Amino acid sequence: MSVLDGRAMAAAMRDDLKSEVAALRAQGVVPGIAVVVLGDDPASRAYVRGIERASAAVDAACTVHRLPDDATQEILEQTLDALSADPAVHGIILQTPLPAGINGTRAGGHIVVDKDIDGINPLSAGRLMLNLPSFAPATAAAVLEILRRAQIPLRGKHAVVIGRSAIVGKPAALLLLREDATVTICHSRTVDLPAVARTADVLVVAIGRARFAGADFVKPGATVIDVGINEVDGNMVGDVDYDAVAPIAGAITPVPGGVGPLTNVMLLRNTVAAARAAAGA
Ligand code: NAD
Repeated sequence: MSVLDGRAMAAAMRDDLKSEVAALRAQGVVPGIAVVVLGDDPASRAYVRGIERASAAVDAACTVHRLPDDATQEILEQTLDALSADPAVHGIILQTPLPAGINGTRAGGHIVVDKDIDGINPLSAGRLMLNLPSFAPATAAAVLEILRRAQIPLRGKHAVVIGRSAIVGKPAALLLLREDATVTICHSRTVDLPAVARTADVLVVAIGRARFAGADFVKPGATVIDVGINEVDGNMVGDVDYDAVAPIAGAITPVPGGVGPLTNVMLLRNTVAAARAAAGA
């Protein structure tokens, strides 16, 4: 069994990105990421700090635009429109959770597709489905990046994705399909979930239930990607029961240290790609 080390993969990607940022800076282009935050949610504070740190680590610029939590939909959309038009900004993130009353999908439509590094504009989602160039949601992209770096075969393999959210499950399924996997999407109404999961060569679990997928979900030798982040007694645990599954799996991501560390790096990689495209480099 091999442990898929997301931290090591993220470090390698940061090294590569740092060189790419240096090359762009030498041409007078500073890749810039803008994070728009409404209100003051403690979890999102930590997340924004993570993006700032990750940007600093590769020498990209990061600006945080804080709006009050009573900011209107119109103010938010005007902010996103202005950032979409700002040549110093190459990637835009709208931090969630959003306050009640804000329509995130509508707001996402105000992030121009070329800068939509977390793939939240409905146009980006449509382009992903049509195999047109677009940025996929960073977490789903991180899942595929881990599989690619670990050289896990996907063509013709059966991939089962548990979870059908717009930001993880569905885009991960589309990206797996793009790699010629045969894909099954499971969700909270799936009948006999463990039996379906056991048919997977590659099992991606993104449901938000601590240690939900146990040994009965996993075919011997399967690759297991655990996207879940849950807090249990002050510890971070995944959606997979790691101790039960690790002895059966062929390869598995730990939590923490699996998908999570790659997610921010994917946002930066997308920003650097957007900066390169904007510079015509
Ligand atoms: P979500 O709540 O939007 O979606 C959960 C999905 O799981 C739904 O489609 C639902 O049908 C399915 N589901 C729920 N209970 C189920 C059950 N009992 N059986 C089968 N399916 C069930 O969640 P999300 O935003 O997709 O996030 C999923 C998990 O991934 C969470 O733990 C979240 O914290 C984590 N996450 C991690 C990262 C990262 O960077 N690693 C990023 C985003 C989300």
